[in-house]
Amino acid sequence: MSHIATANQTSDEQQSWQRILLQLKKEFGAENYTNWLRHIQLVKVTKSEVTMSVPTRFIREWVNTHYKNTVLKLWKSEYNTLIHMDIIVRSAKPLPPADQEAERAHVVEAKHKNNENITVLHFQDENAPTNLSSPLDRRFTFENFVTGSANKLAHACAKSVANSAEVVPGNNPLYLYGGVGLGKTHLMHAIAHQIRKNQPGRHVVYLSAERFMYQFVKALREKNIMEFKDNFRSIDVLLLDDIQFICGKDSTQEEFFHTFNALFDDHKQLVISCDRSPSDLSDIDDRIRSRLGWGLVADIGTSSYDLRLGIVQSKVKQMKNVTVPTNVQTFLATKINSNIRELEGALNKVVAHSTLIDKPITLENTQHLLADLLRASEKIITIDEIQKKVAQHFSIKLSDMTSQRRLRSVARPRQIAMYLCKQLTTRSLSEIGRKFGGKDHTTVMHALKRIESLLLNDNDVKEDVDRITRILN
Ligand code: ADP
Ligand code: MG
Repeated sequence: MSHIATANQTSDEQQSWQRILLQLKKEFGAENYTNWLRHIQLVKVTKSEVTMSVPTRFIREWVNTHYKNTVLKLWKSEYNTLIHMDIIVRSAKPLPPADQEAERAHVVEAKHKNNENITVLHFQDENAPTNLSSPLDRRFTFENFVTGSANKLAHACAKSVANSAEVVPGNNPLYLYGGVGLGKTHLMHAIAHQIRKNQPGRHVVYLSAERFMYQFVKALREKNIMEFKDNFRSIDVLLLDDIQFICGKDSTQEEFFHTFNALFDDHKQLVISCDRSPSDLSDIDDRIRSRLGWGLVADIGTSSYDLRLGIVQSKVKQMKNVTVPTNVQTFLATKINSNIRELEGALNKVVAHSTLIDKPITLENTQHLLADLLRASEKIITIDEIQKKVAQHFSIKLSDMTSQRRLRSVARPRQIAMYLCKQLTTRSLSEIGRKFGGKDHTTVMHALKRIESLLLNDNDVKEDVDRITRILN
């Protein structure tokens, strides 16, 4: 990360930029960092504006659409007077040796980790002729994948593709979708592992779509597209992870999907993952969208408590010399319900901490250790959201929430909304009043008292409040 120093920056600015880069790496991961973020260089910072540069227009476009907001936000946290960020294209320059050294190390490691017949397409620095791709994670196997109702279908489809010796048209492509951290990548790696083990003659390639795209664009730019296509012709099974990254209006995406289509026509098995269903993919050609849905489409839903507990138990079993008490396991499965990655992260944190302080894991120190995480994962409910949901529930207009109308059919829902705001947000009575069309805090107080007393003796009101609360949570 030492390539950012230029003559006309103060070391303060450089230090800020180093901190931001570290933060970006943490937030977006090493892979995105290597592909995109490390190409960004600091040009200058003025009171209100920061200028950054990247080597090509393509990277500029990519950074602008994917990372700009975060980079700017981080800059603002360093210099609170900043309001604007510009990304310009600089003339291409090779990266300094330190970076290339680190890159090479990465390539060697990737090669080492991967078995011979799983080709990892390596592509490295823009100037280097090599390919680089995400290595397979050894732990991501079918054996280590715990199933429950949320992922049963996806798991069965993945196994079916992994176990069939040839491409079954009805199975092609296999399209897995679901939110982050729910096990898509795990299943894809599991397929790759399994085919490698049982059908060593087949050529299996796993790539994140972002990498595929990057390499494709690079080939386009360097006019190596024939070679690129040749490389892909030798593949029997292509697993492409997170294809949401390649949807958009850019013309390169169109070209990209042509290549993709050619693979279908060549009867290659494709396995695709995405954060949404084919029909929810906007910004792509209708023919492509429908093609993506031709084979097996399976979603991974959010996990149930039982599945989460099963996963915790399985992870604990895989750890050597660690005792995690049952009440800690159930605590984790109950509290960390957003996604499996966080659940796993929380478990690892608890285990690492106990090793570090050399004390056994207890429920008490777990609660203490995860306090921040738990607070952050608690959903923050806003007044706007409450007003919207209440209006919907009672089929009244959103504007009735802020109006002065006293008609019971409007005033009662409004009072319920005020009550919920007090219960579910940290806003003061005056703040709540203001958001309800500039009402006085005594009006809000009156509404709260009214609803509280109705809740004691009016079942309809109680049911309404319960139902809306459930929707909001
Ligand atoms: P995604 O690709 O959907 O964002 P990942 O496949 O990276 O999610 O999963 C995140 C983490 O959770 C991984 O460490 C993975 O091993 C683990 N995980 C997800 N689902 C399961 C499961 N059903 N059984 C065991 N581990 C799981
Ligand atoms: Mg993934």
